[in-house]
Amino acid sequence: MVELRASTPGIMHQSFAGDVYNSAVYLKRCFNAIDTSMVTAVGKDTLSSAMVAQFEDEGLNTDLVFVHPTKSPGMYLIETDDEGERSFTYWRSDAAARKVVDFLSDEVLAALGKGDMFFVSGISLAVIEPESRDVFWARLETLKAKGVVVVFDPNYRPRLWKDESEAKETFEKAFHYCDLAMPGVEDLEVLYGVSDAQGVIEFCNRFSINEVVVKNGPASVITSLNSSVESHTITPVKNVVDTTSAGDAFNGAYLGSRLSGMSIDETVRLAAHAAGTVIQHPGAIAPKVAFSEAMADIAG
Ligand code: ADP
Repeated sequence: MVELRASTPGIMHQSFAGDVYNSAVYLKRCFNAIDTSMVTAVGKDTLSSAMVAQFEDEGLNTDLVFVHPTKSPGMYLIETDDEGERSFTYWRSDAAARKVVDFLSDEVLAALGKGDMFFVSGISLAVIEPESRDVFWARLETLKAKGVVVVFDPNYRPRLWKDESEAKETFEKAFHYCDLAMPGVEDLEVLYGVSDAQGVIEFCNRFSINEVVVKNGPASVITSLNSSVESHTITPVKNVVDTTSAGDAFNGAYLGSRLSGMSIDETVRLAAHAAGTVIQHPGAIAPKVAFSEAMADIAG
């Protein structure tokens, strides 16, 4: 999406962000050798071109970024009040990305096969047109049949859904299809009354998901791989500046690490370090150099 941030009255700083994009950026920054593609739809306008240029600048493959003939990107404004409290206003009801499923033909999906991962966010599921969801599930089935690992992060945002039952029904389908789930405790708290990470693991047991990673802020990360459950300690960051995209950075680093064959322990350590770094910088995307320096610390 196009992000606008009000600074001095009447002056906006414009950038690009979104949970899937943020995750893709951190995956690629941590694991440059992994081919990381954005799957979305933009328009023919100049902001769309700038968005695609930004994807490319981050090393992301844009072959699956489709151009809708008449729509343009969604946009949101972040305002901060005198107490530092942030509020968001969205213009996304007619966004090109809502149409992305129309572009996901079998020919397009032929590019993906065994060894690939396909990441699905609950925000994307909320945003695509509800009447295209059945086609989307069929596409996921095709991908799974080819051995593509389907990853799901619910990233629950209540105001994107008509009501709780629509969100629950859609999430349960996505949990059913996914091979790797990355929920946060907060995602399931409101919808299912689950109050801790262990409860999320138990909830996920209903769906026989091979790998589950439960994020719970600075408290802990719990993983379950082939039903073997482990709790991982997180070192809380002292100078938290902005927690935007902590979960996204965690996801990106986690997926890159697993694709590279690293163990769950090493992977959680790396992903937590990536997330802990990002929250020490304002905004969703930390500066490239600062991020890579911080990640070099953990490697050495
Ligand atoms: P989300 O951004 O999806 O709400 P979380 O708040 O659970 O996700 O944060 C994602 C990850 O970011 C956590 O698993 C943890 O590794 C890291 N993290 C979040 N808050 C902190 C913190 N205060 N100190 C250190 N790490 C943190």
